[in-house]
Amino acid sequence: MRRIIASALVLLCAGSSFAQEKEYPKPERMTPGMTEFWTPQPAIVTPGDILTDSAPSDAVVLFDGKNLDAWVSANGGEAKWPVHDGVFTVDKKAGDILTRESFGSFQLHLEWCVPVGITGSSQSRGNSGVYLQDKYEIQILDCYQNETYANGQTGSVYKQVIPLANAMRKPGEWNVYDIIYTAPVFNEDGTYKLAPSVTVIQNGIVLLNNFTIRGTTEYIGHPQVIPHGDGPLRLQAHGDPSAPISFRNIWLRKM
Ligand code: MG
Repeated sequence: MRRIIASALVLLCAGSSFAQEKEYPKPERMTPGMTEFWTPQPAIVTPGDILTDSAPSDAVVLFDGKNLDAWVSANGGEAKWPVHDGVFTVDKKAGDILTRESFGSFQLHLEWCVPVGITGSSQSRGNSGVYLQDKYEIQILDCYQNETYANGQTGSVYKQVIPLANAMRKPGEWNVYDIIYTAPVFNEDGTYKLAPSVTVIQNGIVLLNNFTIRGTTEYIGHPQVIPHGDGPLRLQAHGDPSAPISFRNIWLRKM
């Protein structure tokens, strides 16, 4: 008899807990519009004209074939590299040039040409470079049928990474760089909270795909992590004895 009563109690308890199970609201039924956002709308940017190589409508034009007003000499004063025929050519004796304006993250378009008949080998043939925020060099070098150390060839972050391809056009033809750069963020102790990173496309071919830059470009020794804010672009007047290269059509979009 006791056993029957105990069993009945167990059943009653189980039944009451089932009866008291709480009911929660079900997720609302989704409609297509719930995942469609209309604001903010991306800014309208008019692309450059492919026939005239003009810049997009929101770009900072750094060279449009006329003058070097957007640049200064790294040694102080005006940028003195010669402008001619809609291009400008490195003057190695005059030293590097810097943009007047400083930048954070950006998209950069830049075209460069190695002169026909250039001589020299390895790093001594058409060497220049574009320094992002005046700290990190994307190598510019005549790597057309010219081998050098792989992490120093065109499209490398100099001495930090081997590019994914050699996309060189031959001397006399224009090479096109499109560089997408994300500026670093620093911790209070001067280390990277967010390291800088870069994508480099040459002549439509990806050389670096969102590469994480390890630190400053150093000729001797390892990259350094040095806190900095916005910085200019620097174009390198490398001291190699070969004929100097030329640039044209340089513009930048801030991001
Ligand atoms: Mg260089």
